[in-house]
Amino acid sequence: MPPSLRLRAAWLSGRTRPLEHRMAQLEALGRFLEEKKQDILEATASDMRKPPFEAEFSEILLCKNELNEALNNLPRWMKDKHVDKNLATQLDSAFIRKDPYGVVLIIGSWNYPIYLLLAPLIGAIAAGNCAIIKPSELTKNSEKLMEEVLPKYLDKDCFAVVTAGVEETTRLLENKFDYIFFTGSPSVGRIIMTAAAKHLTPVTLELGGKNPCYVSDTCDVQNVARRVAWGRFFNAGQTCIAPDYILCSVEMQEKLMPALREAITEFYGPEPRNSPDFARIVGDEQFKRVQALLSSGRVAIGGQTDEKERYIAPTVLVDVKPSDPAMQQEVFGPILLVITVANVDEAIDFINSRERPLVVYAFSSDSKEVNQVLERTSSGGFCGNDTLMHVTLTSLPFGGVGSSGLGMYHGHFTFDTFTHHRGCLQRGTGLEPINTLRYPPYSAHKMGL
Ligand code: NAD
Repeated sequence: MPPSLRLRAAWLSGRTRPLEHRMAQLEALGRFLEEKKQDILEATASDMRKPPFEAEFSEILLCKNELNEALNNLPRWMKDKHVDKNLATQLDSAFIRKDPYGVVLIIGSWNYPIYLLLAPLIGAIAAGNCAIIKPSELTKNSEKLMEEVLPKYLDKDCFAVVTAGVEETTRLLENKFDYIFFTGSPSVGRIIMTAAAKHLTPVTLELGGKNPCYVSDTCDVQNVARRVAWGRFFNAGQTCIAPDYILCSVEMQEKLMPALREAITEFYGPEPRNSPDFARIVGDEQFKRVQALLSSGRVAIGGQTDEKERYIAPTVLVDVKPSDPAMQQEVFGPILLVITVANVDEAIDFINSRERPLVVYAFSSDSKEVNQVLERTSSGGFCGNDTLMHVTLTSLPFGGVGSSGLGMYHGHFTFDTFTHHRGCLQRGTGLEPINTLRYPPYSAHKMGL
């Protein structure tokens, strides 16, 4: 039986609804993360030479945080929420039932091939759904691990892993799902939304874009350099929330270059190619695309490449113009761009003249200036005086706005995403004489006139 039919039957049987089933599946996911930790590290290393520390932090630890949050709070999240009543319903029960959607589809990207599937899956399970998960076909080793090993831990009638390239995914999307959670590029996001619209299926779209990073003249330049370099070069820049380009004054650019060079050497040594802590580009096509961006502006740091290894050195490009190819697309690789602006107002105007990013970063020793950037821009998330760290808080919603996405998740927001908030009123069967007030025949008396 195709997975979509098998899961539909399990959903209709009500099997995923009880708290006990949800908790058991979440605990099984926890065992998968614990027992298969080494396999996850090996798969992500084979796919893109993901450094073990980065894999453990981003693929395993962040999932465990989500899992613990769900396990600790699920009975509370699931509870009906009783709401205020009016005069006519005083003796009745009015509540919001946290209803699962049904059979949901989760499509992941390759840059965090475990986390980007399991983090939404945790919420889908917690909310009582059945789920099909579709890993990216670009990270073959992680895809295989998900396909062959994960199902051994989960209830096979309720959860399935489907491997698919573009053609098969197109066919998969012809099925009617009750919710689609997609992580990937804005262009494929449009395809997903169009397919979902045919069935009026609600969607979450976790997309990408170019994340600006304003750096004021007041900053401690060494601190900024380290925090920005870490965020940009983590996973070789293949992170949706990586700072894409710096906006700073000419004077700050001059101070930042030696500080960034120092930070890169401190992190990866004099020859980053030999560092075990620097990943590779995921595939040949992606390598060619990122390498081509090196022709934008002028290489101030790095710039070396090796096609055989799919290695691109941690690179900083200066004198980049807004019309350059690197500013026309998300970099999604280990290249940091620098664009000079006269002041914070010009930086804000620059940000606001482009698509809304997934995150805006602002560095300044003056909190008023950080707040100014926060107040006058719009983005999925915001982080002042650091990069990436906002993603570690399960208490913060994560998601885009405009072309960087639709909807949000993490912590209880993931539970809410996969939950239909069903408004319910349960009335008593007595006191019928009061009801006659609203039945025809109507009269001026009934209107209180
Ligand atoms: P992608 O859109 O090419 O692929 C994402 C998924 O969609 C994959 O599973 C792929 O198989 C599938 N897919 C590709 N083409 C399809 C089609 N025509 N029809 C149906 N399905 C299709 O994106 P990617 O290259 O995997 O990831 C890079 C993008 O994802 C970047 O823009 C990045 O910013 C974004 N991203 C966003 C987040 C986030 O949380 N917001 C996280 C990671 C990556």
